[in-house]
Amino acid sequence: MKCSICNEKAVGSFQEKPYCSEHFKEALESFVFSFIKEKKIIPSSKVCVAVSGGKDSTSLLNIASKYMQNQGLGKPTALCINEGIEGYRDKTIKDIAEFCNKNDIDLRLVSFKDEFGFTMDEYLEREGEHLSSPCSVCGVLRRYLLNKYARDFDVVCTGHNMDDEAQSVIMNLLNDNMGLLARQGYFSGLLHSDKFTKRVKPFYFVKEKEIMIYSLISKLNISFNACPYAKADFRNPVRVFLNEKESEDKNAKKNVLEFYLSIKDRLAQQFLNESLQECQICHEPSSNQICETCRIRETWAKGTSF
Ligand code: SF4
Repeated sequence: MKCSICNEKAVGSFQEKPYCSEHFKEALESFVFSFIKEKKIIPSSKVCVAVSGGKDSTSLLNIASKYMQNQGLGKPTALCINEGIEGYRDKTIKDIAEFCNKNDIDLRLVSFKDEFGFTMDEYLEREGEHLSSPCSVCGVLRRYLLNKYARDFDVVCTGHNMDDEAQSVIMNLLNDNMGLLARQGYFSGLLHSDKFTKRVKPFYFVKEKEIMIYSLISKLNISFNACPYAKADFRNPVRVFLNEKESEDKNAKKNVLEFYLSIKDRLAQQFLNESLQECQICHEPSSNQICETCRIRETWAKGTSF
């Protein structure tokens, strides 16, 4: 395959057009820059990028940083949550710390251990058998910390890509979770609170494999190891299903997202009257009197001797 611009050997396709490495990088960056601009995803210099050291968030930090500097907005701040997953997160944190150091980007690190008193490994060792999947706890705690520590910023950019988002639409439909479904999209959330920082997704229409190629071409320092707990998540069979569908129809995931966006506003109407409360324990925003994070903390505290 030849690059559709210069006739050099193509390294892969972006938006179904083949490109050499130089033009692939240009095409992806230019697409994401236009998306950010058109949707007003980065409105100011107070931007935080949630990073894990994986290919998606490191590529996003690289692109958001370029975009902001082009616009005279300075550089974003990177925020990394350390769940305490040995052999996995320790390696990706080393990678992202190196990237931030090399690119002169401020990196803030927050850990489950410091905040909650346990690592994810410790929690699963004791409570794992009672959980439907490790991600059901890890995801709640990660979102809580992300919101809490990104409060000084106007937006938090996350590296969710087209594959992640299409999977979430299908998962929420299959689980009949319309409230969560209504909160999806390239701007997450419905209700406004001073304690909520808006979450935005510049890679909403970029496929996972396109980001993979971008990260390799850009020589980003990434180890590509996967979380050992990810296999147990319901997301996994949904990912396999969507990948099979995409091998039959290259637009399968995009079709899921376009359909979702076409009904999102009508769906959201049903949830706009819900009120946001403060958790009675931690005073963070919550849809219940006690937030899910405090419930997890209570479960942990019951079995410890402090
Ligand atoms: Fe946490 Fe699940 Fe992500 Fe692993 S895959 S870091 S357990 S949310």
